[in-house]
Amino acid sequence: MRRWPLILATRNKGKVEELRKVMADFPQLEVIGLNEVDLSHAPNIVEDGDAFYANALKKALAVADYSGKLTLADDSGLEVDALDGKPGVYSARFAGDDSDDAKNNQKLLELLQGVPLEKRTARFRCVLVLADYEGEIAHAEGVCEGIILDEPRGDGGFGYDPLFYIPEKQATMAELSTAEKNSLSHRGKAMQEMKQIFNEIFSQIKRN
Ligand code: IMP
Repeated sequence: MRRWPLILATRNKGKVEELRKVMADFPQLEVIGLNEVDLSHAPNIVEDGDAFYANALKKALAVADYSGKLTLADDSGLEVDALDGKPGVYSARFAGDDSDDAKNNQKLLELLQGVPLEKRTARFRCVLVLADYEGEIAHAEGVCEGIILDEPRGDGGFGYDPLFYIPEKQATMAELSTAEKNSLSHRGKAMQEMKQIFNEIFSQIKRN
């Protein structure tokens, strides 16, 4: 069977493995992480967009242009209503240049001090962009709604997971198993939409 390489525009091995599992339904695709290709001439991509879509598109186009191959890029983060949508695209570096998960969570708690639970609504958002060297082919988006607690709970996941409470599950993201998280997370939902897009692409190829 003919296999198409699909470059995933991330060096995060966890994300590559996650996508490999999701894409296992498509044996036509060979998922390759950026950590697995020769990057000696790779462009340095600065994520300076003001929206997740802009950043994901920039990454997808740059890597597709560089590699000449079908490329999937993602960008994601947390939007808190009481903070006018912040940290948004600054989620990874919310606490400044030497941000880490603990510092970002600490800053979030400080900014929300005194805000009652009913006003601590928030969502994780993920945008995926599929592109080749000619430009964007498609994009997909996933959202997961929740509430920011006033103290962390659970030790799974990463980033803001211990503060992100999902009312339907009566648990934070950090208290869910990986499979449960993937079934309802922003990234999981965006991936499911992207799978539909691949289904359409492959059925068109079959027809032609
Ligand atoms: P990126 O899409 O990997 O660049 O994620 C940006 C930042 O958003 C991460 O560093 C986290 O702080 C936050 N984030 C994105 N997805 C999640 C998630 O599933 N759980 C917790 N934090 C997340």
